[in-house]
Amino acid sequence: MQNIRRDIKNYFEMERESGISEYLFSSKPKDVQLSLVKNQVSNCQKCSLGKMRTNSVFGSGNINAKLVFVGEAPGRDEDIQGMPFVGEAGMLLTKIIEAMGIKRDDVYICNILKCRPPQNRNPLPEEISICIDYLYTQIDMIKPKIICGLGKFASQTLLGTEAPISKLRGTWSEYRGIKFMPTYHPAYLLRNPHDKKLVWEDMKKIMNEL
Ligand code: SF4
Repeated sequence: MQNIRRDIKNYFEMERESGISEYLFSSKPKDVQLSLVKNQVSNCQKCSLGKMRTNSVFGSGNINAKLVFVGEAPGRDEDIQGMPFVGEAGMLLTKIIEAMGIKRDDVYICNILKCRPPQNRNPLPEEISICIDYLYTQIDMIKPKIICGLGKFASQTLLGTEAPISKLRGTWSEYRGIKFMPTYHPAYLLRNPHDKKLVWEDMKKIMNEL
């Protein structure tokens, strides 16, 4: 947070030097702050994944969303495009969101890790512990009503548990006062389509809550 505060201060000093003296604080700070964190992520080399990425993948969607989806890490398509959930699993996630009666642009989508692990291997615990502050900052700024954890890594990390996703899914938990629904990752559903009905049960609980 110290770095973010310093960056915000520098940003406003630059703006002041270029002659801008008035700001719409009521509507701008969240955009500005998230842009600054995104910029930090795009330059981040705190773990070895920074050297291997094509693009970092910060997150996308409505920064005032009531619902935030958190996945695991960027895959190949996401690394190329710099956007979360744009590959086959992403298309399935979009279908799920639309089936809930909302648009993808209405929610916010991000991941635990902001850079792609090589060959889409699982995130390492040390990578998660180094990168996770970026996600905490995003959630603190967006302040959603509900977080949906997509898969084991997002759900276990945010709930601080090692329980398997098959046990976690479908039951409301809480992450720092925010309702948290763990469910299966769309990539898992592509391999196990018979479990789509379980995810739909979880989404119905979210819809009721929203
Ligand atoms: S994965 Fe996270 S900590 Fe590692 S380089 Fe990318 S942004 Fe930085």
